[in-house]
Amino acid sequence: RAKQEGRDTLRFFNPEMQAVVDAHARLEARMHEALEANAFRLFFQPQVNRRGVVIGAEALLRWPLDGGAMVSPAEFIPLAEDTGHIVRLGLWVLRTACAQLARWQMNERTRHLKIAVNVSARQFHQPDFVASVKDTVRAAAIDPGRLELELTESAILSDVDETIRRMNELRALGIRFALDDFGTGYSSLSYLKRLPFDQLKIDQSFVRDMAEDESSEAIVLAILSLSHALGLEVVAEGVEMPEQRDFLRQHGCDAYQGYLFGKPLPMEAWGDFLEMI
Ligand code: C2E
Ligand code: MG
Ligand code: MG
Ligand code: MG
Repeated sequence: RAKQEGRDTLRFFNPEMQAVVDAHARLEARMHEALEANAFRLFFQPQVNRRGVVIGAEALLRWPLDGGAMVSPAEFIPLAEDTGHIVRLGLWVLRTACAQLARWQMNERTRHLKIAVNVSARQFHQPDFVASVKDTVRAAAIDPGRLELELTESAILSDVDETIRRMNELRALGIRFALDDFGTGYSSLSYLKRLPFDQLKIDQSFVRDMAEDESSEAIVLAILSLSHALGLEVVAEGVEMPEQRDFLRQHGCDAYQGYLFGKPLPMEAWGDFLEMI
């Protein structure tokens, strides 16, 4: 809707705005081609527990270009959401992650690992979202308890009751839910009590600023105690330094994700990664 209006009013834009619109249009066309050509890749970033043992991975989308460069998800996910491409792309991510879980499940050494998949608001609110997740899990024959779906506050805010209904339908299968980027949105704490999340992820901005900035440290401590009071597991994102891990661990953080433990890796590299640790 807003998009169509935008198209009709392009002639009122100034040249700089026009350039941005053109760049977006080109990116959108290339995204369409990339979808058709199956050119997206899924990387996996390790998550570890308090003892540093790998417990699973977050699946992160990558768009490699011909020269070897990657378009950042920060750039193309919002565009994929605006254009609706996210629905197809999101389903591909889910299928690919479930296929990987099925492979891990066949091996004694890796069968305990879980995979977290990011789900965008627009994808989550598709009428057939719950059915498509159920179908995907069934087709891959995976243990649904190893699949975790990450939602952000923007997914929840549009319709809390419907969000709860959908989450409960999938939780009944054993699928777990994480609230991603916690602390960056606007959702009130009362939602947290009502929504059936299993896990909160502390946004990396707070972890990064913890040491220099007292209010970030206070926010991290508040998230940890609040989550534990509500019976939620806490994962810290963006852990890059041992001091950050130590501080978080000292205050009860359950799991950790960040360059300190591993960058997002293509699945081909995971065999070696698991050997190494
Ligand atoms: P996110 O879900 O919060 O993912 C964590 C981001 O933090 C990832 O960025 C990851 O590479 C980055 N990261 C992890 N550890 C560190 C660290 O120690 N230092 C720093 N500086 N960064 C770290 P990435 O892969 O660029 O993804 C950005 C965002 O794009 C994700 O944030 C997520 O919101 C979105 N995204 C990625 N893949 C998907 C997908 O398959 N579907 C959807 N809907 N969104 C996705
Ligand atoms: Mg995430
Ligand atoms: Mg996050
Ligand atoms: Mg983030």
